[in-house]
Amino acid sequence: MAAARFVWIDNSLRPAKEAVVPFLSAGMQYGFSVFEGIRCYETDQGPAVFRMQEHVDRLLDSAHIVGFRELPVSAEQVTKAINQTIAANEFSSCYIRPMIYLDGAMSLTVEAGQPRFVVATWEWKTFLGAEAKERGIRANIASFTRLHPNIMMTKAKVSGNYVSSILAKTESQRAGFDEAIMLGPDGYVAECTGENLFIVRNIAGNKVISTSPRAGILEGITRDTLIILAHDLGYAVVEEPISRDQLYVADEVFVCGTAAEVVALREIDFRVIGDGKAGAVTRALQQEFDSLVSGRHARSAEWLAPVPALNAAAVKG
Ligand code: PMP
Repeated sequence: MAAARFVWIDNSLRPAKEAVVPFLSAGMQYGFSVFEGIRCYETDQGPAVFRMQEHVDRLLDSAHIVGFRELPVSAEQVTKAINQTIAANEFSSCYIRPMIYLDGAMSLTVEAGQPRFVVATWEWKTFLGAEAKERGIRANIASFTRLHPNIMMTKAKVSGNYVSSILAKTESQRAGFDEAIMLGPDGYVAECTGENLFIVRNIAGNKVISTSPRAGILEGITRDTLIILAHDLGYAVVEEPISRDQLYVADEVFVCGTAAEVVALREIDFRVIGDGKAGAVTRALQQEFDSLVSGRHARSAEWLAPVPALNAAAVKG
């Protein structure tokens, strides 16, 4: 994994070693920051960012949800900073982490500090392990409940929300599983620690795809992508509550996210799902997704934004 040489801090590219967070900041002390996870893929036209606009919009929505009033950056400036950070690091493919954090606020209000903007990037080829895509992974139901929106809002990617994800995933991995499935406060399946979840059932000879309703989950951009790709392939996709036992008897279960992409769950709570490997719908969607992000799909031009060459004057230090 090649380390990044440059990081965007506030208004400019800086050497990566300068990417330090002030210890006394609400971002650090209370997890009061919002962020995005975005991917840049290698294509024949050079590096290209997948669904840049939607990720930038979600970052600004997250900032709005947690109550930031005046932001240091516009959508255009976030987009430019992301492109320049990728180009400066000369990555052909990478993961991108823009963040807006609250600096300098040691009293518990948004007004007491200032929002600051950072973009980091790194090479990150496989998130759930190299074999995950081929074989599928093993998951269990977390003993921790997913956040209720009146406790920590699930539509915002707030750093503090991920304490809950880390608790759940650590517990699962210590118990020998790969990933945790989190039930919402209503007892139905919400999402995984960093992925949304889908099930596939054969109903009267048709394969029907279901996924948890939006209200209690992070509305994943990969989730949205797969719903569109599934429709393109002629499948019906229903957004409806999913119970724990519906997972057990599903023909296929898969999860998706920017980092994980599309991965089958081959076993849940020690019960084999379907025939214990990625099923036909999961594989079809994996293939569509792979061709989409590598620039070979009819929808690639719509969703992949090529990274413009770097303006050399942008790099300081
Ligand atoms: N749920 C949670 C809790 C996540 O952190 C993520 C990753 N951003 C997702 C779902 C998937 O979202 P996306 O497809 O936009 O990466």
